[in-house]
Amino acid sequence: MIAILVSACVLGATDVTVVKNRRLEPNDNVAKVLYAAGLDEPTVDAVQGALRATGFDFKKARAGDQLRFVFRDQQLDALDYRRSIFTEWQVRREGDRYLGKKGQLEKETQLAVVELTVDTSVWDAAKAAGEKPEIAVTLSDVFAWDIDFYRDVQKGDRMRAVVEKVVSKGRVLEYGNVLAASYVGSTVGKKKSFRYRLPDGSETYFLEDGTSARKTFLKTPLKFAHVTSGFGSRFHPILKYVGAHNGVDYGTPTGTPVWSVADGTVVRAGWDKGGGNMVCVRHVMSLETCYLHLSKVEVKEGQRVQQKAVIGESGSTGLSTGPHLHFAMKRGGMFVNPLNQNFPRADPLPKTLIGDFREKADALDVQLEAKSLARAEP
Ligand SMILES: [Zn+2]
Repeated sequence: MIAILVSACVLGATDVTVVKNRRLEPNDNVAKVLYAAGLDEPTVDAVQGALRATGFDFKKARAGDQLRFVFRDQQLDALDYRRSIFTEWQVRREGDRYLGKKGQLEKETQLAVVELTVDTSVWDAAKAAGEKPEIAVTLSDVFAWDIDFYRDVQKGDRMRAVVEKVVSKGRVLEYGNVLAASYVGSTVGKKKSFRYRLPDGSETYFLEDGTSARKTFLKTPLKFAHVTSGFGSRFHPILKYVGAHNGVDYGTPTGTPVWSVADGTVVRAGWDKGGGNMVCVRHVMSLETCYLHLSKVEVKEGQRVQQKAVIGESGSTGLSTGPHLHFAMKRGGMFVNPLNQNFPRADPLPKTLIGDFREKADALDVQLEAKSLARAEP
């Protein structure tokens, strides 16, 4: 258990407030942390009773839970027990007893326009724009069928998105749905996608003309994760198609999530002398994909997987000279270069919905483009 912060401030001649922040570490329990914060036994009992009265389950206390103690004149005045960004319990002193209540963090969803310009990496571009880096992952998901965020991103590329932000007290807690996004890049060209709700309630992305953004196969077998490095550094993925061993090598740090590029059935998941830990998935159109040298396999033979399901983590097992993912594709049993394949898009919007879609997409497009013009003409 670690004391994160201890601060004291003098409010009056005799009124001293002390705040202590504590965190549950592995193998801690709530009582242990309460004692370590300086509470005596009757107070520990009273606080635990107050928590229990709210339905607090002590067995679910876990490492990372945060406790904030406020002492007034050396007596516990308030305790906030925070489990996640949304869940918190509060214990308050009322006279000579303690009362607990479960608090729900006040939060609201706001619509915002985010603009990123890539200098060294998407991750750094997010930080430079004052956003949480998670926005990079969120945006890579929107473009997963058309843009390989490991390979296609270049210096100077620009992204804009109309995105939901879940905000509490002025702080962004997380990103919600991306309603519209555009990407302008030297390798990628210009891409634009709009989220649209279909009559059955499902939501998916369509291009400006109502074509589906989805394809049967993703652009890359690597889920975009936190790649700290930028261009030219050791871990910037190097990609090449190697004819001799029939696949594409993605140089990527061990532990990068690998996902199935399409729906299918796992036909192989296990050890191979050359391929190390490897997974192969059979798809439609007599296509099969294989993922080699994994550090971790997370599927079993016979298992159905969906597009974007994480099947393992990249590594350097088997005959491998360094951390990389070897990605292979077969069509009718013959190896093909996955980088050269053209995959069909999912069904377009039915004609009857085009009018409604255009109306909604146009409204979003104004927000995407307005920001762009503001930047273009300083
Ligand atoms: Zn290889």
